[in-house]
Amino acid sequence: MSETVIVSLAERSYPIHIGPGELKRAGSLLKPLVLGPLPVVTDTNVAKIHLANFLLSTEDAGLDARPIVLEPGEGTKSFAGLERLTNELLHTGVGRDGIVVALGGGVIGDLTGLAAGLLKRGIAFAQIPTTLLAQVDSSVGGKTAINTAAGKNLVGLFHQPRIVIADTAVLQTLPRRELLAGYAEVAKYGALGDRAFFEWLEANGAKALDGDNSAMVRAVAHSCRMKADIVARDERETGDRALLNLGHTFGHALEAATGYSDRLLHGEGVAIGMALALQLSVKLGLCPGQDADRFMRHLKRVGLPSSIADVSGPRPSPDVLLEHMAHDKKVKNGRMTFVLVRGIGQAFTTSDVRIDDVRALLSA
Ligand code: ADP
Ligand code: ZN
Repeated sequence: MSETVIVSLAERSYPIHIGPGELKRAGSLLKPLVLGPLPVVTDTNVAKIHLANFLLSTEDAGLDARPIVLEPGEGTKSFAGLERLTNELLHTGVGRDGIVVALGGGVIGDLTGLAAGLLKRGIAFAQIPTTLLAQVDSSVGGKTAINTAAGKNLVGLFHQPRIVIADTAVLQTLPRRELLAGYAEVAKYGALGDRAFFEWLEANGAKALDGDNSAMVRAVAHSCRMKADIVARDERETGDRALLNLGHTFGHALEAATGYSDRLLHGEGVAIGMALALQLSVKLGLCPGQDADRFMRHLKRVGLPSSIADVSGPRPSPDVLLEHMAHDKKVKNGRMTFVLVRGIGQAFTTSDVRIDDVRALLSA
């Protein structure tokens, strides 16, 4: 039932192993890459549920794993968190030719990747993503980062992992809300570049979310394949990689307007953001209305939010949202850059969207 996707980046190419139970194979998959002590960075939630299984597999493979357990949450992705982690990593005695494992969600992956990229001018790292978001998005493509007072993910490096091990069975312990938030990024791949995949998700997405492992493996593998293709064409985001930002300009503005709080998870912001991007595309006469309706229907059916009205608490005002968007993006002559669609599966970038049209959409 498992699949392997290769991210092709010449000498930095690496495999993503996807399947239920891959965590049990982690030790043997990592073995050929490891020299000396093996630091494994995780958070307390993941440690409670999945660390023991990982340690069994490394022990079986004869590896000397050294767990480093951090506090969960975005707060850990900070300069203070980075300082603490780099000190702990150095303390394990991991060498220039060693490798560091990130076992957790996007927070652990982003922070650990950055720490590995900085340590001794760059040592190898492996990703074992344990959230759906991390499996289909943040563990693919080599972006690492921490947050600063000026904003999220503003300090970081491109540092590709040597291997990614995505165990779809570990997703079963993820809170439903986190699982759904990750699914928004899965649906994004359909919306941005693959209508047939979107149609497959209409038929099988709910099943995957409800624990059907073979459906989940397919959803994760296809998502990774699409991201890997885009990253292989444009590793440093000078072109095509921007399409992965579908729904993110609106989504980031909603996250900022709700204070990056429990009111809205990243994936929930992306779900609403994609619905808005599709509606904007319809409004500009670029996309058939049925496609936007159909996409929103799917979001609703699986249990994701699809409109600003779905955000709990006071409704973020159009002006506040626009302010956050302007902060995020260059505005030239009253026009902004957006990823829009000509239909489900056909995203493109344009820098010709009038702010007035965006304001009207946000006010509707
Ligand atoms: P993301 O991957 O969505 O960026 P985080 O790294 O913040 O997010 O993970 C989201 C939350 O889920 C954290 O509280 C984390 O500890 C928890 N978590 C991660 N993986 C699992 C899992 N497999 N089972 C249960 N909880 C998990
Ligand atoms: Zn995202």
